[in-house]
Amino acid sequence: ATMPPLLSAIANAGRHGVLVKSAVVMERLGEVDAVALDKTGTLTEGTPRVTDVRPLTGSGLDEPGLLRLAAAAEHRSEHPLARAVLTAARERGLALPVAEGFGSTPGVGVRATVDAQLVAVGAPARLLADVRDTGTTAAADLAGELEDGGRTAVLVTVDGRPVGLLGVADRLRPDAAATVASLTSRTGAVPLLLTGDNPRAAARLAAEAGIEDVRAGLLPEHKVSAVRELAAAGRKVLVVGDGVNDAPALAAAHTGVAMGRAGSDLALETADAVVVRDELATVPAVIALSRRARRLVV
Ligand code: ADP
Ligand code: MG
Repeated sequence: ATMPPLLSAIANAGRHGVLVKSAVVMERLGEVDAVALDKTGTLTEGTPRVTDVRPLTGSGLDEPGLLRLAAAAEHRSEHPLARAVLTAARERGLALPVAEGFGSTPGVGVRATVDAQLVAVGAPARLLADVRDTGTTAAADLAGELEDGGRTAVLVTVDGRPVGLLGVADRLRPDAAATVASLTSRTGAVPLLLTGDNPRAAARLAAEAGIEDVRAGLLPEHKVSAVRELAAAGRKVLVVGDGVNDAPALAAAHTGVAMGRAGSDLALETADAVVVRDELATVPAVIALSRRARRLVV
């Protein structure tokens, strides 16, 4: 017997390096007319590097001291930023103190008890909203400076007091701009960027990738609202993401695709399809495969 077109398309998608979980998903992929991409780990390589270690004046910390605290608090996190901080600490040969009571908030950051103090590491805009302190202005200024340079600014607080910032930079995937161009030309789908990162770093990266519609500073539930709004406007949205923070949006999307290599377990389980070969260019390819198969299905 000849294989039904949608099953052949699934086999074909597999050869392209995309695991499509069902024939229904294979069919739905061809219906999408908007593609919402997450930034970190999706549009970027997802292996960010710490470029700046900046203790605040009066914090009593030097650069290794700041990095050591941040790395200790991040050490249980799967987030790409956490991996960047841990790599930086390892490269400098820092011995990490024990962290206890680890907790994380998607789209915000992490916290843990280190050296009997509560250390929080995360988005300056989110963490600074909780503190009113003399260090706040200096921290906000430094965050702005780092973000103007296209960095993701990561704030470190000790017992609610800002002690320093890390600057982190991530590179666009080599195939990001070509993928965005091919989404538009081959599939006609509108590309968008949805990110929890700061608007300046987001705008810079979107410009490099050729994306005009950028929505930054989004918490996981804001990513969901963005998808729902597009759906209410009649769009069939494909969400491409990798993080725990993307899982709700992947679930709310017409179709959700997770980036497999660095993707969190939750994202991989929630998504309808998984990019196993770590190339973004497979996304327009599977949309095209779906459309071809749909034309063959009677
Ligand atoms: P994206 O949408 O780009 O994947 P996330 O929603 O995962 O970003 O994170 C949004 C922001 O929250 C990050 O830019 C960072 O400032 C902060 N953040 C989240 N998790 C962490 C973490 N483990 N360590 C430091 N910062 C974090
Ligand atoms: Mg991400």
